[in-house]
Amino acid sequence: MSWRELLKEMCLIPAVSGYEARLANFLVQAFAPYADEVSIDRVGNVIARITGTDPAAPTVMVFAHLDQLGLVVRKITADGFLRVERLGGVPEKVLPGLVVQILSETGKTVSGVIGVKSHHLTPHEEKYRVLPYQELYIDIGATSSAEVQALGIEVGTPVAYEPAFTVLQNGRVAATSLDDRGGCATLVRLAAAAAAQRPAATLYLVGTVQEEFNLRGAQVAAQVLKPDLAIALDVMVAGDTPDLADRLDLRLGGGPVLGMYSFHGRGTLNGTIPHPALVSLAKQAAAGAGLSLQRNAMVGLLTDSAYVQLVGAGIPVLDLGFPVRYTHTPVEVCALSDLDGLYRLSWELIRSLTPGMNLARRY
Ligand SMILES: [Zn+2]
Repeated sequence: MSWRELLKEMCLIPAVSGYEARLANFLVQAFAPYADEVSIDRVGNVIARITGTDPAAPTVMVFAHLDQLGLVVRKITADGFLRVERLGGVPEKVLPGLVVQILSETGKTVSGVIGVKSHHLTPHEEKYRVLPYQELYIDIGATSSAEVQALGIEVGTPVAYEPAFTVLQNGRVAATSLDDRGGCATLVRLAAAAAAQRPAATLYLVGTVQEEFNLRGAQVAAQVLKPDLAIALDVMVAGDTPDLADRLDLRLGGGPVLGMYSFHGRGTLNGTIPHPALVSLAKQAAAGAGLSLQRNAMVGLLTDSAYVQLVGAGIPVLDLGFPVRYTHTPVEVCALSDLDGLYRLSWELIRSLTPGMNLARRY
């Protein structure tokens, strides 16, 4: 399977935070031909180890999150509609009229649509209002709560955008959950590269769980693996659309992205300022691989690296990513060339990790 096909397959497997099992099993199979060991830990992270050729070289954890945001059933009405909570940063303005998949407890996938008041009867002032999720409902075609429950749909059942993968012009694709199946597909490519040409450093490739649910899985993996350094692969927000052109410079097709500053600004009040030695390594790796490297500094986003850096005595971290438009909607758009660049950059960086590399902060 080509890596593009692998990416598509992964985008088409729903994996709402906390319900990543199907995608985790897929990733175990994808790692199996290349890794010395593949395991799933207690929280559900998939961990592949590829032992390096030099035990004195630093160990590195490269990770991407398996999960995606979604909805959770909050209430089933007597006439068979589903009311929902948000799981992760779901933008309410894209929800009305969407096709969704309810991932029932029997293992079956049930299709539904998010209802919208019939246009003919919508008052003018309502036409331009975004409905909060509390007012939305899912219609699966059922006529009673008993009928819904008989399908294995209960309070707490997860709901995902209907998976889709659409090829656009110029090597660009629109898909559900490019955040972070792009990172997951890159992990598999790194496994293949490392198996074919073992680097000095021992490599842990980790598909993490529950990132969209306030960043949980990667922290656990780092506590167990205790890597000398860690690299997060995740999306970065592209700014090359008419509505964001003044905000930031990241553009599709401009190459992989080095995260220089992230801060969530709300809730977690967490973020990442990368380790300077790893920033230098990334720049060298980009030059070595002949890649242009974009840089990002942004408030309003954070990745798992924000928590991984705080594990144990502290782990040097780096955020690498690829630009994505329309983040957290069902039509996230990226350029495949940027994902390829992310792979080449990460691989070059992994190969450059050598024994005696100094990650201490002495100034
Ligand atoms: Zn992400």
